[in-house]
Amino acid sequence: MNTHSPHTYLFNDLLHFEDHKFCPLSFSIDTYSEKCSFNCQYCYSSERHAILGKQITFDTLEETILKHLKKGSLPVLRIGTFFDPFSKESNSKKETLKLLTLLKKYQYPYVLFTKSPLIASTPYLEQLIDSKGNIQISLSCPDDLIRQKLEPNAPCVDSRLNAIKELIQFKVSTQVRINPLFPIYKDGTFSSNELPKSQELSIFNFDLLDQLHSLNVKHIILGFLHLTQKQMEEISTKISFDLSKLLTPDIRKKQQGFIYSEREILKYLQFIASYNQEIHFTFCHLGYERTDRAQNCSCFNDHGNIALHQQKTHWAQYLANYILKKAIK
Ligand code: SF4
Repeated sequence: MNTHSPHTYLFNDLLHFEDHKFCPLSFSIDTYSEKCSFNCQYCYSSERHAILGKQITFDTLEETILKHLKKGSLPVLRIGTFFDPFSKESNSKKETLKLLTLLKKYQYPYVLFTKSPLIASTPYLEQLIDSKGNIQISLSCPDDLIRQKLEPNAPCVDSRLNAIKELIQFKVSTQVRINPLFPIYKDGTFSSNELPKSQELSIFNFDLLDQLHSLNVKHIILGFLHLTQKQMEEISTKISFDLSKLLTPDIRKKQQGFIYSEREILKYLQFIASYNQEIHFTFCHLGYERTDRAQNCSCFNDHGNIALHQQKTHWAQYLANYILKKAIK
């Protein structure tokens, strides 16, 4: 039986940092509801519910923030890991607004993940301007008809693009997450440089990068698609395309679910990294099964700020080294 009431904050603090396998930003908080109402078909958060943190009150959060301020160590607070902070239930009590108001009051750094344009509406904007907040809006496909199949209850593509535009205009630190990044060719095709004339899967396309560039987006975080077997089958039915056909026979033999070879993933990332020199691309390991990813995540820099690496290919280099190391073994 679930012991959490539907509207509470769930919290992981830095005590978990050492053994945190999923992201180095383990100081995190979620406004809790039974299930995120956006119902994205690729969502992995229900698999991770076992690591949900302890339930806390708003006052406890304020005390913890004051403790960090007193110590002078300000670990970035991550908001919205397991549930979108604007999913139906969380939004009904304006918990996220309350949270952002508190964080602005103490000038505490945070990153908030969302798919909702509500973050750019007046009451939220007021809390974002002159705060230490970073907003990361997720967007995986430019076509809203496909979006309806993949993210049935999430806000439409245009509303998210408008929110991004608005946030940038108001000088709120804003990044876009293309996570998951859907492949467009069969595994092995892109890395072999023998490209078919047309896309084999039309969920993501590179026009999205141009669209984001036209909105003045300066930082995009990529996370390549991986799915459990069940998710792969369900999405295949919804989009009337058998996703397993894209996998190599080798990978299909070895494991279940949708997983691409690292060489192919690397090719996508390298290609995108050089796509537009005015956009800074980094890579998120979240949801991608690798044991050493938390130490090498490039979403944030060493100081806990949003990464602005001089070296644009930082993560691609890392991934290349990783593949090389494996090949040597
Ligand atoms: S918005 Fe995020 S947490 Fe909610 S269902 Fe979609 S991927 Fe999962």
